[in-house]
Amino acid sequence: MTTWHDYLREEGQPPSWPYPIRFGEEQEIDVDVLVIGGGIAGCWAAISAARQGLKVALVEKGDTVRSGAGGPGCDHWCDAPANPLSRVSPDDWAKHMAGRPYSNGIGIQIQCREDYDTLLEMEQMGGKIRDAENEYAGAEGRDDKTKFMISPRYGTIHSYLPDPKMGEPNFNPPEKRNNVVIRVWGSTFKPALKRECKRLGVQIFDRVMGTGLLTEHGVQGARVIGATGLNNRTGEFMIFKSKATILSTAGGGSLWLMSMELGGYSNMHSRTMSGDGTIMAWKAGAELTKMEGTGMIMIATGLKHKWYSGAGDASYENVPLVDAKGKRLPYPIQGWVDAGAMVPAPGVEAKIREGIMKGEYELPFYGDFPSMPDVERRATWNLMLGEESTTRIIIDTFNKAGFDISRDMLQSYKFIEGQSLPQWRDVGYGGGLLVDWNLRTSLEGLYAAGTQMFAPEDHSHAASTGRYAGRKAAAYAREIGPSKFSRDQIEKEKARVYAPVKRSSGVEWKELHAGIARVMQYYVSEFKTESLLNTGLNALKKIEQESVPTLFALDPHKLMRSLEDTHMLEYAKIIIQASLARKASSMPLNFQRIDYPAIDPPEWNKFLTIKLENNKVKTGERPQEFWGDMKQQYEAHNKDYTGVYKAK
Ligand SMILES: Cc1cc2nc3c(=O)[nH]c(=O)nc-3n(C[C@H](O)[C@H](O)[C@H](O)COP(=O)(O)OP(=O)(O)OC[C@H]3O[C@@H](n4cnc5c(N)ncnc54)[C@H](O)[C@@H]3O)c2cc1C
Repeated sequence: MTTWHDYLREEGQPPSWPYPIRFGEEQEIDVDVLVIGGGIAGCWAAISAARQGLKVALVEKGDTVRSGAGGPGCDHWCDAPANPLSRVSPDDWAKHMAGRPYSNGIGIQIQCREDYDTLLEMEQMGGKIRDAENEYAGAEGRDDKTKFMISPRYGTIHSYLPDPKMGEPNFNPPEKRNNVVIRVWGSTFKPALKRECKRLGVQIFDRVMGTGLLTEHGVQGARVIGATGLNNRTGEFMIFKSKATILSTAGGGSLWLMSMELGGYSNMHSRTMSGDGTIMAWKAGAELTKMEGTGMIMIATGLKHKWYSGAGDASYENVPLVDAKGKRLPYPIQGWVDAGAMVPAPGVEAKIREGIMKGEYELPFYGDFPSMPDVERRATWNLMLGEESTTRIIIDTFNKAGFDISRDMLQSYKFIEGQSLPQWRDVGYGGGLLVDWNLRTSLEGLYAAGTQMFAPEDHSHAASTGRYAGRKAAAYAREIGPSKFSRDQIEKEKARVYAPVKRSSGVEWKELHAGIARVMQYYVSEFKTESLLNTGLNALKKIEQESVPTLFALDPHKLMRSLEDTHMLEYAKIIIQASLARKASSMPLNFQRIDYPAIDPPEWNKFLTIKLENNKVKTGERPQEFWGDMKQQYEAHNKDYTGVYKAK
């Protein structure tokens, strides 16, 4: 393998930019429906709008074939209660899932009603969703008739949460399992989605970053009528004119950490996720919510070994754990997780910790693959880890090194990973665009799907909400008349976009990103006070006033990174402004105000909203469950929808 270092040594100089440079040149595209972000939600949105016979463009910062968090794969198709093996009704399951405070009942109801239809459509496009070749015949959870493989990540019919007795082993007998999660071969999905987009005539613009939204007459808060973009290879300026626009760029990322060395540092999401869509909508005047809710990164970041890096985590949560001397731990129960959780119930965890302190269990722990029946360990190692996503790297590396699941154990990092640091914080499954039952944002003509929305969920949620948003945006686009563009708005965005290439020295994107992350680590971390938050806000404003005007970029790729930084900066400011507005602490929002220590007092049990009006920050509020009766609302908004769902 030739490294960058080898290349420079051999060639004596860096390679010249391999694409023609077209800074400032314009390309104009006119479509009915514009989708920005070609990840899971975006591809599904484009496909569903194109199936309505409309002219659709899909804009993607990377290459649609593998871009986004779901690009490499997915092994769990979650919350599919309409599947034939499910023992819970979609509406009951949706109600249960949306019962968690600050969740998004609209997205969850759509997911529970439509993600099984979405999965079947995925199969028609060529995605693999069943064990048709009987490779795992006899594995627990496999249904011989449908050949679906139910995941160990299920709960009981009654509850998804750990047992209320907290800690008593509560292995669920098969007849009590809810069967809502299906194991899938998700590495086949993204190529199938891109293929289907092409087959339907969707115009795909790979390597184009959406930068700003266009509004009628250029007015903030007015109807959204298109967007601008930057080709990150040629530097060309793209102007998209559309009747309806769907944002699906996922949310904010990399706000607390800048690292070039640590692979996968971004978080549970793709590195391309830098808040672009949220900031585009924010500047256009759209309402956001839950922006103060942040959490700890739960996935391997290179900084720590958390999920996916050791036995007993996420996709291999069913591997029996033993201590350094081979003594079996009380987790997972009988090789299947207790009550569907991915982590031990709090009581079980406490017992293990106590055992460690007393010397009953010796660290480190190991995943005991050899003790599992052959089919179970193959299903876990080959199917789950092979299909999950970047976890394929783990199995490929281990397999190459001679690891043998029938003989070898795999170290678990549970209990030796240490405490959480501020740079492990993330926007988590928190803030985003406020949407209604059409997945329309507060702006006419602008829709959102997947992680772009507030309180998003997972892959099948992104897929089904994308598919839904495409349908709704298409219906709107069909009815709406011509739009009034503002050349002035386009010129202003063009000036903003190209400012860094007008300079050849100053601050580079990495330095700016590091500065933003440092501010977030110091002032917007675990403990918050009015004065810490204001110090953070002032520090960000200082960066904005003093460093951003000196930002320079030598090629289109660095220009994209520079623009991402400016979006991260704005995103960070919104988090602080939303945090200042919430004058109480909250457990579900992972929000600790030292100056307002009361935890979740009833008067603060509400969503806070935030938007720009005449370029001034305006906050508002919405009650919990503002979406109303989920079943009734869904049905009222989807009278014509036909899917396989029937009430159970
Ligand atoms: C390692 C890993 C494993 C996972 N495993 C599972 C699993 O097994 N089951 C499950 O349910 N979920 C899983 N997830 C989560 C799942 O992948 C996400 O929930 C899902 O991909 C979200 O879809 P999305 O469309 O909202 O975002 P993404 O799929 O991330 O798509 C966002 C897209 O927008 C593009 N983009 C960003 N900014 C711009 C811009 N300015 N212009 C144009 N394009 C832009 C990005 O390049 C990206 O392609 C996993 C995630 C990770 C990281």
